[in-house]
Amino acid sequence: MKVDLLAIAAHPDDVELTSGGTLLKMAAAGYRTGILDLTRGETGTRGTPEIRLKEAARAAKIMRVAVRRNLGLPDAHLEMREDYKLAIAEAIRELQPRTVILPFWEGRHPDHYTAAQLGFEACFVAGLKNYPLGGEAYRPFKILYAAAYDYQRPTFCVDITKEFDRRKRAILAYASQFTPPKEQRRSKVVLPLDELEARMNSMAQYYGRLIGVRYAEGFIVKEVMQVDDVVEMQVRSM
Ligand SMILES: [Zn+2]
Repeated sequence: MKVDLLAIAAHPDDVELTSGGTLLKMAAAGYRTGILDLTRGETGTRGTPEIRLKEAARAAKIMRVAVRRNLGLPDAHLEMREDYKLAIAEAIRELQPRTVILPFWEGRHPDHYTAAQLGFEACFVAGLKNYPLGGEAYRPFKILYAAAYDYQRPTFCVDITKEFDRRKRAILAYASQFTPPKEQRRSKVVLPLDELEARMNSMAQYYGRLIGVRYAEGFIVKEVMQVDDVVEMQVRSM
C-alpha cells in the first residue's frame, strides 16, 4: 500500500481544489498517489458525512489515486493533539510517501493551518525509531505546501493545463457542496462555497500566468530549490 506522493488535508475536497491537477499529473507519470483526509467535513453547512464520503470515493476514482483514507478526526475541531498526530504518523509509516503535500501553514480556516502543523509534526515523528507508534520508522523526503489555500505567491508551479478538465470533474463530484439544489442556494448565510470552485479555477489561471501556461497549481517549499542546468531553465524572463 505504499505511495510516492501523498496529499494530506483537513476536509474531503480540499486536495482536489488545491492540488488535484498535480496529483493527476503525477499519476499519469506513473507514480502512485494517495490522499489522506483528516476529517469527514461533518460540520459543513451542506451534505451529510455519508454523502460526503460517497462523493470523496467518486472523486478518488476520477483523481486516479491508489489510496484514499479518512482518519475521521473531528471537523472544525482539529487541534494539536498527540493522538491526532500519532494517527497521521501511523498512516505515514504505512504509506511511506517520498513527497507529502500539506495545506499552506496560514489561512482563514483553522482546520487548514492546523492540518499543516499536524501533518508536518506527524511526518517528523514518523521517523523517530523509539516513538510510541506502530510500524517501522519512516520519514518523507520532501514536504510541499499548497499555495492556493492562502492565495500565496508560490515557490514553483506545476503546469496542469492537460489535467484541468479532469480536476474540475473531480471537484464537481462533490455535488452536495458545489451544485446543491436551488432551495439550499437561497440560504441567508453567505457561503464562501458558492464562489470557491470559481475562485480556485481563477487561482489556477493566475498560477498558470506566472509560468506562461494556461493553468497551474502553486506550491511553497521552505528549502531552496536546486537547479542543475541553468541553460535549460523553464519560464521565460522576457
Ligand atoms: Zn477545507
